[in-house]
Amino acid sequence: MKCEVCKRETPNRYCELHENAYGNIMQKFEVWKDAAGMSWEQYLNEIVENQFTGIWAKEVAQHLLKNKE
Ligand SMILES: [Zn+2]
Repeated sequence: MKCEVCKRETPNRYCELHENAYGNIMQKFEVWKDAAGMSWEQYLNEIVENQFTGIWAKEVAQHLLKNKE
């Protein structure tokens, strides 16, 4: 398989770096959605626009925004 974000060869849906970033995003959303009542989409936009977000998380957030079900 190839990482859905960067197309690196990986046995999973995401490579190790993007998998880590994805895990962090999911984990933090649990907190944010309770604390700030944010929707998934608002939250992803927040990540993309936040200058303090790491590049890996930003790439994953952009990818998730583009591929909303
Ligand atoms: Zn990747």
